[in-house]
Amino acid sequence: MEKLLADNDNGDALKVNVKDIIIGGNKKVIISGPCAIESYDSLFNIAKELKKMNVDILRGGAFKPRTSPYSFQGLQEEGLKIIRAVGDEVNIPVITEIMDTRDIEKAMQYTDMIQIGSRNMYNYSLLKEVGRTKMPVLLKRGMSATIKEWIYAAEYIMAEGNLNVVLCERGIRTFETYTRNTLDLNAVTVVKQKYRLPIIVDPSHGTGFRELVPKMSLAAICAGADGLEIESHINPEKAISDARQTISMDTLEKIIHDVKKFNMYFS
Ligand code: PEP
Ligand code: MN
Repeated sequence: MEKLLADNDNGDALKVNVKDIIIGGNKKVIISGPCAIESYDSLFNIAKELKKMNVDILRGGAFKPRTSPYSFQGLQEEGLKIIRAVGDEVNIPVITEIMDTRDIEKAMQYTDMIQIGSRNMYNYSLLKEVGRTKMPVLLKRGMSATIKEWIYAAEYIMAEGNLNVVLCERGIRTFETYTRNTLDLNAVTVVKQKYRLPIIVDPSHGTGFRELVPKMSLAAICAGADGLEIESHINPEKAISDARQTISMDTLEKIIHDVKKFNMYFS
């Protein structure tokens, strides 16, 4: 089979459409929302605020890959229904994570983009199965994956016929334990220079601390990222999961404002 990306990627830069949002074009795409979908009302209130600031895509997890099996695992199918209903009500495309091949068909009815999380970057059956759909896929970097392994994971999806793949750098595990992960912005520049895929950055999981998110968001844009995925909440301290790295609506508004300024300067 012909290699699409790895080793010798000479094709044109790919753009991925999520409804009428283009990822990989001139405009930096902002994906935001809570780590987990908590209830209809809470997601609706967040989404209304995001819409006012022209956030492009609403995120929220229904199936949560938690480190401890005793932590909140997400609202599951109920969560999928909630994010679809809120997306339709507020008129904003939605993205949610799928962890199991058995949930793909269900997810296709409810989401506009599928997220493959860091823990599943090596789940080749899941990659192949989403590759057999035409759904846009956000492929997060495995927390210990090299850039090459990550590119091959993307290629697993694309080799099945689905070229709608966007990469997401979300930090890797290093000897540094001060922050949750080490955000590898080298990877952004490498991908932009060597490969055709759009790439965005998640400074929330990349740092683990809300006070680091604004600066790392701008650093990602300077490195050439096509956009950002940021965890936000109306009441960040009260978020059910990943509260410590979740930012407020006000902080998000400032980041969006600064991203626009930086983008003019760097493009
Ligand atoms: C998430 O974005 O909800 C998430 C769990 O991120 P990651 O897979 O990068 O840990
Ligand atoms: Mn999270």
